[in-house]
Amino acid sequence: MEKRPFSELGLSPETLKAVDRMGFEEASPIQTAVIPLGLAGRDVVGQSATGSGKTAAFALPAIERVDTHRREVQVLVLCPTRELAVQVAEEFGKLACFKKELMEVPIYGGQSYERQFRALAAGVQVVIGTPGRVMDHMARGTLKLDGLKVVVLDEADRMLDMGFRDDIEHILKAVPESRQCLFFSATMPRGIQELIRRYTRDPAWVRIEAHAQNAPQVDQVYYEVDRRSKLEILTRLIDLHDFRYGIIFCSTKIMVDELDEHLHARGYAVDRLHGDITQAQRTRVMDKFRRRAFEFLIATDVAARGLDVDDLEVVFNFDLPNDGEDYTHRIGRTGRAGKAGRAITFVSGREIYKLQSMIHYARLKIRRERVPSLDEVEEARGNAFFERLRATLEARQFKPHDRMIDRLLEQGYASTDIASALIHLLQAEGKPAEPKAAARAKAPAARPPETRSPAARAPRPTGPARRARTGREPGFTAVAFNVGLAHEVTPADLVGKIAGVTRLPAGIVGAIDLHEDYSHVDIADEHVAAVVAKLAGIRLKTQSLQPAVVAPGGA
Ligand code: ADP
Ligand code: MG
Repeated sequence: MEKRPFSELGLSPETLKAVDRMGFEEASPIQTAVIPLGLAGRDVVGQSATGSGKTAAFALPAIERVDTHRREVQVLVLCPTRELAVQVAEEFGKLACFKKELMEVPIYGGQSYERQFRALAAGVQVVIGTPGRVMDHMARGTLKLDGLKVVVLDEADRMLDMGFRDDIEHILKAVPESRQCLFFSATMPRGIQELIRRYTRDPAWVRIEAHAQNAPQVDQVYYEVDRRSKLEILTRLIDLHDFRYGIIFCSTKIMVDELDEHLHARGYAVDRLHGDITQAQRTRVMDKFRRRAFEFLIATDVAARGLDVDDLEVVFNFDLPNDGEDYTHRIGRTGRAGKAGRAITFVSGREIYKLQSMIHYARLKIRRERVPSLDEVEEARGNAFFERLRATLEARQFKPHDRMIDRLLEQGYASTDIASALIHLLQAEGKPAEPKAAARAKAPAARPPETRSPAARAPRPTGPARRARTGREPGFTAVAFNVGLAHEVTPADLVGKIAGVTRLPAGIVGAIDLHEDYSHVDIADEHVAAVVAKLAGIRLKTQSLQPAVVAPGGA
């Protein structure tokens, strides 16, 4: 299926501006197909993998079909979970940001009715809700659907799985005959086909093959491992690839808790989600994960539903998923929006038969890899360090230190020995430091209180030279951060955080001055704006970062 520019799909100038502001460069295949059909008023059945951009595929035509002069509900979106309703409402808000008169509201169980009454009475045109709460409001007369033009079922298969079938039918029966129906589902089991037959009229079927989207973007491998060595191999792979943002799936709550304990004790910044975790806590964890306040989320399939995150580097199947469909759901979270991702699956013992049948029936493209030895991990790290050193020499990204070198040469040291000593010092510095005590928001009493900063794991080019400041280098601007020695922050922490969050090479960071409770970090001029914007609100040690450009001369 092809992709096209949004400008060729029949959208209004305001909406195109909003799409542009969201940074979408071209419409995804499902969007390319669904938007023109939606605008034309056709019923649509859309089927495509997680992460393929279904939200905008239905939100954009729905927004265009709203008559903003009328203050009545014209679009109703049904979603399986509260998280999803909130996310979809947010996306509507962003995509309609240049249509000032358009209002949307999420309604879901657990939130006070009072607040929802007020929004509904204020004349919203778009309601995004979970089936139960939508039915409640219909029964109370606070949600009137006489003026409804478009009804959307998002993740219809999951709504059926969650037992919403009767509610959905009740709602669909109550809406005007003339409405348009947009129907989205990752899979098409029989129950869904029945609903489609009953409640849509001559729908256009749009199906985007999952393989075409997933295969080129997600590198999928599996390792045959002994059950007892899974943890060891997991950490080895994380260190080898220097992963910093991913989800680790386990099959049970107990496994999630255990792995969380183990990884935490080994100094990885992790948190967990499973069915026994309270809703309030879940929301907090998901929020923190989206902000990248920790590196790895450990979760069960159910708990991770409705979690929408971008740019995962890796999905680990620490335990094998139940079937090919769950597998596809899990790995759909990595390699999104054209970026490469990795899916790594562990199988132990007889599980290999299960995996082989999944590969066969779901036509998965997973290749077998050999577990890397510890020596190979060390070697890979060494290679990465060599590459950085070579790139620094190549780009001449360093200040000359002739005086110091001359002094050493005069004392009779060979230049190769001087270089070796420097490398030794640098690599020693990059080695995982002794874990320092650090406050941790969720730490229960049984958990060891130490955590290792994500940045401390791999060697970082933070030699003493870059810290000894002798005035600002040209091409760099000082940015102040509200962390310093008092927060036990090291230059490696800062460089790691900045490079990790922005995904820019560590070389954009110049000299670093650590003070008691703040620090000044030199950032290459062209990246200053991005660093300030992206680091704001990110956690480092106990602090929420508030970066600010230091006024020239004010350093
Ligand atoms: P789905 O509902 O199919 O799982 P989403 O609508 O949640 O997918 O979209 C997944 C991610 O891709 C979101 O972060 C969204 O903002 C982003 N996205 C959607 N459309 C585009 C596009 N055309 N270009 C780039 N990113 C997009
Ligand atoms: Mg979706």
